[in-house]
Amino acid sequence: ATPTAIMVGTGRAAHLGILVKGAEVLEGSKKITTVVFDKTGTLTRGQMRLTGIAVDATSESEVLQRAAAVESASEHPVAAAITAAARDRGLELPEVTGFGNVAGHGVRAEVNGTAVHVGRRELFDRERLHLPDQLARHASDGEAQGRTSVYAGWDGQVRGVLSVADTLKDEAVEVVRRLHGMGLEAAMITGDNRQTAETVASEAGIDRVLAEVLPADKATEVRRLQAEGRAVAMVGDGVNDAPALVQADLGIAIGTGTDVAIESSDITLMSGQLDGVVHAIQLSRRTLRTIY
Ligand code: ADP
Ligand code: MG
Repeated sequence: ATPTAIMVGTGRAAHLGILVKGAEVLEGSKKITTVVFDKTGTLTRGQMRLTGIAVDATSESEVLQRAAAVESASEHPVAAAITAAARDRGLELPEVTGFGNVAGHGVRAEVNGTAVHVGRRELFDRERLHLPDQLARHASDGEAQGRTSVYAGWDGQVRGVLSVADTLKDEAVEVVRRLHGMGLEAAMITGDNRQTAETVASEAGIDRVLAEVLPADKATEVRRLQAEGRAVAMVGDGVNDAPALVQADLGIAIGTGTDVAIESSDITLMSGQLDGVVHAIQLSRRTLRTIY
């Protein structure tokens, strides 16, 4: 490889708002076959909002109040949606004690001495909290529309299901279409439930869905794709994505994402827009053609 050719490549990259960490990075991308996108904050805007609450015997405001009290200690986009909704309704949030994160599943804390869990369905199976049929039905209906179901429960029962929605980034569909046009396969990886993931992926035109992947397993999933003969570009923004960004043949971080993701990547898209993924791969192809 001639250093001059690589310089040209990275120079063009900077012009497009694509920060390439080192010259050798573009060489590594030569045989990319598959682009894996994280869902929340990468394919979607990552700004979730509450779209509905289903309850059984408890009032909506009590469910929202307790869930928001617990979520006020969390940084997850789901937590932001729930605390914002409680604020909009003018609910006072009680103090919580003993807050804890259950990685990839949700959160828990004591509210007025009662243990309250908030998170995905598996958390309640694990804690043996009963889920009433009516609430389970409401959850599946929302998931079929691409919403994420957040269950809230205490004293042995799930008390409510809060549906939260995110929106695809404006350019997502076009970017996936262009990647397909370049002969690449597009996949999505998420900790979210399968139904929600499938709906969001199909809106974006994505072929392959890796859902319900625990944070610690994202890198393993990338390794598995590689073991099947694929060369993987991983696009992500979260702390959770960092090991997968390192594992991928080309790690691409969203510039508006977390520092850890940026540090773990080969390339950073400064604007946070997904168009940069297409540019980065085109650029690497062009650079390689100049070199070899
Ligand atoms: P992702 O960022 O892909 O959604 P995570 O591993 O962060 O993946 O979370 C997986 C799932 O766990 C989320 O989709 C959500 O259903 C649930 N979850 C995680 N954190 C929280 C939280 N603070 N409150 C409620 N649910 C949560
Ligand atoms: Mg994310």
